[in-house]
Amino acid sequence: MKNAEKRLFIAEPHGFCNGVIRALKMVEQLLLERSCDIFIYNDIVHNSFVVNDLKKRGVYFVRSLDDVPPGSLTVWSAHGVAPALEEAARAKNLIITDATCPLVKKVHDLAGKYLSENCNVIFAGHANHPETVGVLGCGNIILVSNAEDCRKLPELPPARRNVMLTQTTWCREDVEAVKNALQERFPDLECISNICYATGERQQAVRDLIVQQKLDYLLVIGSPHSSNSRRLCEVAENCGIPAHLIDDPQEIKDLDLAGVAALGITAGASAPEFLLEQAVKLLNDMGYVL
Ligand code: SF4
Repeated sequence: MKNAEKRLFIAEPHGFCNGVIRALKMVEQLLLERSCDIFIYNDIVHNSFVVNDLKKRGVYFVRSLDDVPPGSLTVWSAHGVAPALEEAARAKNLIITDATCPLVKKVHDLAGKYLSENCNVIFAGHANHPETVGVLGCGNIILVSNAEDCRKLPELPPARRNVMLTQTTWCREDVEAVKNALQERFPDLECISNICYATGERQQAVRDLIVQQKLDYLLVIGSPHSSNSRRLCEVAENCGIPAHLIDDPQEIKDLDLAGVAALGITAGASAPEFLLEQAVKLLNDMGYVL
């Protein structure tokens, strides 16, 4: 294959969303003013480079408040926390900087509103993801992660309305599948998709690029634990092309791109732009032209 036949297309928009930018700015401000240790509960955003850089700069990452000394400066990650954790932080006199994305907060507020109206609240999300843990902590909420979970649900109290909320970083195909499965059980289901604008736009950009440029393959810059990055791979696969998630651009050197003429690239909402730039440079060296 001649190099001229190898084309590279960058999906727009891609990369950092406003929620990630906001969370990282809050941490940078704390580092600027630093007068004491800074503890971050969970990964501030799901990207290995971002977290490792902050670790090198002396920030502590914890998974339990047991690892935070009383009275310490503590940051909630962009994914948010359950009300019980806020309560535990108050009991330890922690000084909290809340970097929860406002769009995740909105899901907490909706969950609280529908619970207060005595609705059955069903949350479509991935088990153990920090956002899911935070939302489920808002009250008696039922978790479903796929259509099979919906079919296995027990009967719900009949007098109540049934409302479904979703994780902000799901894709519309998964929301539809869960919604349809739930509606078979609960025809009156009220479905509220909470997929955020950033997730939706990045996914649509991938769908459009695949169709417009007849892509053979999609590369997604993002860490394996980044929900929105993984969904970008799934969106490409749902459109019929293979996709590969790349945490470190150097991994590109090990990929078998034989026969890939039209290559697309994007980056998840938590992946820094410099990683995409490095990936593009490597792909240019391999003969892919923009
Ligand atoms: Fe907020 Fe969406 Fe970004 Fe998550 S992906 S931080 S919900 S804007």
